[in-house]
Amino acid sequence: MRLGGKVALITGAGSGIGLATVLKFLEEGAKVVAPDIDTSKLVEAFSENRDVLVREGDVTCGKDAKAMVEAAVQRFGKLDTLVNSAGITPRTLGPDADLETRWDAVMNVNVKGALLMSEAAVEAFRESDGGSIVNIGSIMGLVGYPTALPFSEGFNPYPASKGALAQLTRDMGVRLASKGIRVNALCPGFVYTPLTENVTQDSEIHDSMKSLHPIGRLGEPEEVANVIAFLASDEASFVTGAVWTVDGGYTAQ
Ligand code: NAD
Repeated sequence: MRLGGKVALITGAGSGIGLATVLKFLEEGAKVVAPDIDTSKLVEAFSENRDVLVREGDVTCGKDAKAMVEAAVQRFGKLDTLVNSAGITPRTLGPDADLETRWDAVMNVNVKGALLMSEAAVEAFRESDGGSIVNIGSIMGLVGYPTALPFSEGFNPYPASKGALAQLTRDMGVRLASKGIRVNALCPGFVYTPLTENVTQDSEIHDSMKSLHPIGRLGEPEEVANVIAFLASDEASFVTGAVWTVDGGYTAQ
């Protein structure tokens, strides 16, 4: 199994890409710490599974970040991999949130949260033989938001947050390479998860979204999880500081 013997902490584990990643990592033999601010689905799914530690935790809080990492080490003896999947968009905040509110909330979760979690994980990696971080960015961190879709103005600052995450990945990848710690980002195209549910329910917007991907459809969370598992595995031992796309050809156009 690709991740046999590894211990992974996956933020945003309670939904969408994070949840699909928990399942994929278990299938590949890893032990998993699964934190989220909303653990309702996790408690239901994994309360009987000794390979999973479900935990409540807010990635924007430094104390929580350290506690999540400490819980991993305490329960499973070490930490090998961090997947930063917790993320929000301005749509999470509702239509009335003004630009400043959106900036603070989105940057806090998508950038500060990933940074706090990564710094906490690096402390644990130093105690063992290195480690690996996979940040979930977005194609919106690489190209501008498509004018073919509505709400392009209201989507700020999501693209900026994911652009910052890509740069955080390169910087940490370079700084930590000599310590045996790999840091990579994965940038999905549009994927069917609760995050996109409200827009994919509108058939006209859904069709526009599909047509933006040369492959002619949106992605499934499992298709993203497969690549996360590869990046976390020893098969990716020469891959660091890299920003990967998993987007059905979206950014290749
Ligand atoms: P999702 O809404 O299904 O899951 C996100 C999870 O993060 C939720 O369970 C939520 O409770 C958790 N979360 C939010 N704020 C948190 C916080 N402060 N602390 C801890 N947990 C928190 O979304 P998803 O589609 O699975 O998105 C996962 C990641 O992938 C996000 O970073 C998102 O930006 C990125 N992404 C998603 C898509 C897509 O189309 N779905 C595309 C590109 C990138």
